[in-house]
Amino acid sequence: AAPPPSGPGLSNVIRKKLMGYVGFANLPNQVHRKSVRKGFQFTTMVVGESGLGKSTLVNTLFNTTLYPAKEPLPPSAERPKTVAIESIGADIEENGVRLHLTVVDTPGFGDFVNNDDSWKPILDNIESRFDSYLEQENRVNRQKIVDNRVHACLYFIQPTGHSLKQIDVEFMRQLHTKVNLIPIIAKADTMTDEEIAAFKARVLSDIEYHNIHIFQAPTYDNEDEETIAEAEEIASKIPFAVVGSDKLVATPDGREVRGRAYPWGVVEVDNEDHCDFVKLRQMLVRTYMEELREYTNDVLYENWRTEKLLGMGVAQDQTVFKEVNPAARMQEERVMHEAKLAKMEAEMKMVFQQKVQEKEAKLKQSEEELYARHKDMKDALEKQRQELEGKKGRIESGRPLTPEKNSTRRKGVFGGR
Ligand code: GDP
Repeated sequence: AAPPPSGPGLSNVIRKKLMGYVGFANLPNQVHRKSVRKGFQFTTMVVGESGLGKSTLVNTLFNTTLYPAKEPLPPSAERPKTVAIESIGADIEENGVRLHLTVVDTPGFGDFVNNDDSWKPILDNIESRFDSYLEQENRVNRQKIVDNRVHACLYFIQPTGHSLKQIDVEFMRQLHTKVNLIPIIAKADTMTDEEIAAFKARVLSDIEYHNIHIFQAPTYDNEDEETIAEAEEIASKIPFAVVGSDKLVATPDGREVRGRAYPWGVVEVDNEDHCDFVKLRQMLVRTYMEELREYTNDVLYENWRTEKLLGMGVAQDQTVFKEVNPAARMQEERVMHEAKLAKMEAEMKMVFQQKVQEKEAKLKQSEEELYARHKDMKDALEKQRQELEGKKGRIESGRPLTPEKNSTRRKGVFGGR
């Protein structure tokens, strides 16, 4: 047997053969049972000018009359001025698997004289659904999160045979980072096979030129050849040229099929030689519904969420950095502590200097007072000395002292003190 792989990180992986059946091989079945019980939520949005067959295609895709046929507005009716957003929900069940399907329609898109901002209400709607999901995630109780985010956007391109119109480019440019875009060429039965091939090539080159990201079925390294071939087959049909019809028609060879009957023959919806409907359904429902949900959650919503939180000033990454890097945290704490000490030291120095200045001023003042007193005393003593000198001279010369004068003088010297 080949030696077990070694290297950093693998050293403590011990490969052991099981002695008997343990049961974890049943894990996928547990997941399966649980998700079937919980059911699935899927939201798809349809965008395109009215009359391109959006309602018909949704009904054809999910094989229901989910979408009521809209009566065209009479010419006199007041027409809405903006793009409206309408959503229809339905619980559908197939072989015991429940799917809560929501279809978001955008009537009015591209129907006005000025369609410059037609994409805006649609972008707002997609973001408000992200907002509602974020709000639910932040709740204390997160048991029942309802996922109303748009998982796929079917964008209907008019079968003009030219190239993408300005409104198509603008819509896709504005929304490709917010939603999984799936471009569709509507009413493909109005074009010949060659026209469709040429139109598809032109649409794809326009999409590439404008750096628009459309949803691509992912392939993984460890997948079998069949799955990879299927993904490539689906990818080769993008943009899907589809025909929609929820009516059954009879074919010349006696079969009853979903399709459209023309004087020259029948276009079959479910016939891969006639249109790409089957491949579109495979992409949207049969093979990649979970991928669409996952990409919406892991990439589109995640990017929007990061941007939104950063915009709100939440700098979560810094906190994480501190937590996972104790050395950096200690260093930061040390710097903060040193700054605090330096500030305290400066404050103490200032207080000390102030005190010293006050003391000095006081000392100076008392020194001046002392000096003044000393001078006064000295002056008084000098005066006394002179008087005594005078007295002495008079006594020596034999002149008598006037008692009155003497007492006044005494008073003058000592009385003022
Ligand atoms: P919406 O306004 O985009 O929802 O368009 P509808 O689904 O109401 O369809 C408008 C008209 O186009 C109806 O008369 C449909 O029968 C017709 N229609 C729908 N899908 C197709 C199609 O694939 N090919 C053709 N030729 N007509 C279609």
